[in-house]
Amino acid sequence: MHVLKFGGSSVANATNISRVLDIVAKAARKDRVVLVCSAISGCTDALLDLARTDRDSAERQVLLDSLLARHEDIIRRLFTGEEREKVSARIVELFGKLAAAPEDEMVTFGELFSTTIIAEKLSCEGFRTKWLDSRILVIKDNQTLTYNNISTAIALEPQVQVFVAPGFIASEYNGKHTTLGRGGSDFSAALYAAAVKASRLEIWTDVPGMMTANPKVVPSARTIPKMSWQTALDMASHGAKVLYAPTVAPAMEEGIAIHILNTFEPDNPGTVISGNTSGGPAEWMGVTSVDDTLTSESLICLVSSGHINGETACERTEDCLKKAGIKTLGCSSDGTNIYATVRLAVIKEALAAIHREFFETSQSSTVNIYIAGRGAVGKSLINLIEETSGRIAERTGKILHIAGTADSRSFSITGTSDVSQDYSDVIPDLAGNHAQSFCEAIRASAPRGSIFVDVTNSETISKEYVGLLREGINIVSSNRRALAVPFVEYAAMQAAARENGVFLRYETTVGSALPMLESIAAGANSSDEILSIEAIVSCTLNRILSSYGKTSGSFAQIVRKAQEDGLTEPDPRMDLSGREALRKLLILAREAGVPLEEEDVRITPVVGPDYFGIPLEEFYAKLEDAEPEFKAREDEADSRKCRQRFVATLEKDPSGPHGYKASIEVRLVDESHPAYRITGTENAIIIRSAYHPYPLLIQGPGEGARLAASSVLNDILK
Ligand code: ASP
Ligand code: MG
Repeated sequence: MHVLKFGGSSVANATNISRVLDIVAKAARKDRVVLVCSAISGCTDALLDLARTDRDSAERQVLLDSLLARHEDIIRRLFTGEEREKVSARIVELFGKLAAAPEDEMVTFGELFSTTIIAEKLSCEGFRTKWLDSRILVIKDNQTLTYNNISTAIALEPQVQVFVAPGFIASEYNGKHTTLGRGGSDFSAALYAAAVKASRLEIWTDVPGMMTANPKVVPSARTIPKMSWQTALDMASHGAKVLYAPTVAPAMEEGIAIHILNTFEPDNPGTVISGNTSGGPAEWMGVTSVDDTLTSESLICLVSSGHINGETACERTEDCLKKAGIKTLGCSSDGTNIYATVRLAVIKEALAAIHREFFETSQSSTVNIYIAGRGAVGKSLINLIEETSGRIAERTGKILHIAGTADSRSFSITGTSDVSQDYSDVIPDLAGNHAQSFCEAIRASAPRGSIFVDVTNSETISKEYVGLLREGINIVSSNRRALAVPFVEYAAMQAAARENGVFLRYETTVGSALPMLESIAAGANSSDEILSIEAIVSCTLNRILSSYGKTSGSFAQIVRKAQEDGLTEPDPRMDLSGREALRKLLILAREAGVPLEEEDVRITPVVGPDYFGIPLEEFYAKLEDAEPEFKAREDEADSRKCRQRFVATLEKDPSGPHGYKASIEVRLVDESHPAYRITGTENAIIIRSAYHPYPLLIQGPGEGARLAASSVLNDILK
């Protein structure tokens, strides 16, 4: 069950109600819905005014007439023909009851009007709809009875798709009609949600979520994407109007997340309120205030997400107010929040000053980083971050914080509880469940905008990417297996990143720190058409091929030396097979907009099929036996003044699968070819495009853990 609550401005007129109906229709396609609505905006105030007028006075009649006219106008715009007559008659009848009601119950009518109209409209649109009388179901100050009433009422109607319930109104234990307090519809929605153990509770309003300050007072306020129930409670009980404070408890007790959303911008993800206070470093969340007109003072509350040093924060608060020419009448802290009192007359300036000091850009922002993989690259990255964090903070304003790491045996998320587990048998490189639990923990605890760094070699971990991206977590990866998945999976990752406003960067997967992907995308995304890409991206094979014949040793010896130097995969045949190059070519091609799949690539391994599937030593022996063959090939290249290079090529070809043909093979290149001079562990890429007469050549170092780590760091900071 989804519970959706719409506030007064969301139902203020027929146009807005139509927006609400669209949102409800969409939700009703996913699950059954309880729709809770406020009175149309201004109605509750008008009813309170009404109750203060004399019975039968002209003033009362004027108020009644204008309120009826607003509702009639909505009905006229939403309904036609018989339906219009019917709804109109029901509203007129309710107005009759209002006129006769005891003064202290008049305020309860606003929600009856709005929900009567909306329920009727929904059933006209074909939804099986049922209006619920909150005055019977919601018993003020008796949660147990309320939950029983609601769950029973709903259980009795298994056919209904949308229940419509007035917010705000309830009964006393003795049956007298009453309210849950101003702004109480939010609370009604939480009661309905808790009673039915809803899977989703959405509070739709006219601002995009809980914000760092009231945007009407501080225009630079921004949405807080994610916060704990406790933080929401702190903000709401110290003046944040967007949520009525009592709403939090029922949701928190039942573990239901509260989504604060904007009716006028339905795709904005708004704020998700869930979970306990994150165990990470305390962050400043927002600033609120409550005015006291009796004393002409305002109490400002600067809310944080966790434990703070109250003394220094008070000093900072007082200092920034002082700079703005504002005297602080009192300042204290409860260990989480800061409370400052100022004169009511200067509250706007005070809020602006505090917001500027604590929330605006001059502040360095902390970037939480979660690193999967503690191999050579992972270790280098951690060292690099530790060594350079001071310089990075100075130059970019970003404070890099390693919030979690994982390897094949254990993971830990610092700041939150240490979920480190030990695995007795070694699981190869973050396989399966382990990666999954690390990512689950990140999804549950990482603030939006955190960065997940994948420096593993694991293929399974790529299954976690989409889930992380959807939670607003960015990804930087050097793991080419994760990207060289079937194109549909790759496309799903890209879409998840785009739709959730986060990035997925993987420059390191090809050519290490060389800006290959960036250069391809820069042309392909906008102005240029790629004609061909030739890539020398296997350090191993390039070193083997470029040193063979130039240094002493048979081909077999040179391969063995590369293995001993740690340049090859554990089994060098992985390199000779061209599989690593294949992954890189897929990534390159897709960056150029070509949805290349493995089977589209013609691979000619450096050695034939009979070199595979035999023990490693046997392989070396066989390689040694074939030395004359290798020698002959090399001599042939020499005689033609050519060199052998292992090249992955993508070339425009209308007869190819996506208008391109792709191959991976040893090629003979002559002096005029840029690859001729690429030696050792150098990498290079040659990009030819339709627009430029000269090829773009990117060439440089391609090997080493520190190089890869610096490239990953570069992606983090981009
Ligand atoms: N209509 C009520 C009020 O204005 C309740 C609500 O909108 O939440 O206070
Ligand atoms: Mg409200």
